[in-house]
Amino acid sequence: EGAVRQRDINYPAYMQGIDYGTGVTYIVGHNPPDSDTVCTAIAYANLKRELGINAEARIAAHPNAETAYALRYFGVREPLVLENASGQNIILVDHNSFAQAVKGMESANILEVLDHHNMIGDIKTATPIYYRNMPIGCTATIVWLEYIEANVPIKRDMAGMMLSAILSDTDNLQSSTTTDLDRQAVYNLEEKAGIKDRNSYFLAMEEEFAAYKDMSDKDIFYSDYKEFMINGISYG
Ligand code: MN
Ligand code: MN
Repeated sequence: EGAVRQRDINYPAYMQGIDYGTGVTYIVGHNPPDSDTVCTAIAYANLKRELGINAEARIAAHPNAETAYALRYFGVREPLVLENASGQNIILVDHNSFAQAVKGMESANILEVLDHHNMIGDIKTATPIYYRNMPIGCTATIVWLEYIEANVPIKRDMAGMMLSAILSDTDNLQSSTTTDLDRQAVYNLEEKAGIKDRNSYFLAMEEEFAAYKDMSDKDIFYSDYKEFMINGISYG
């Protein structure tokens, strides 16, 4: 008896009160997707599976060119599109409102939310859920932290996913939202991902994004368009 140490903490116990059922739990981010939304869903689904939970990453729509580059670079398959979330077991990443979610989310069974945004959400649940929102630069930083808390080793491809998400959201650690935790995650993940020159990797991501290849003006306009519902008024 005595002091409880971090290594004595049982990570799966965080979620012990959640009934994931026997079917698949889909992990999905906002619409339209960005790199945090896609790469974090992939890395979190991998962590869940390592812990014996039947989870799969899904996307709200096809990823942008920057995310597609990261997927190619690390040899990770693009997740399938989730057309309708109604009736499904769902974990939301990188958003907390129905306005930005996949269609049918109002009648989904939301089990968890991992996010780093202000809480504009209208999400209500029938049972207690695992809700982790941190005021940091990227959702992937939370997932990185959870790999450590869960004591699950991070393989190269998953390190690459989380690294790409954090670089994208924090503008290569330059954005005002960047915290020490994001920096710590990036320094750890770039090594695990085998990225020796982070700046040139980030530049390549940026160039893919800014090339707007095969995109119409409308596609470009809506590529990072988010919807908000505040006091019954819808904003974009
Ligand atoms: Mn996002
Ligand atoms: Mn984000």
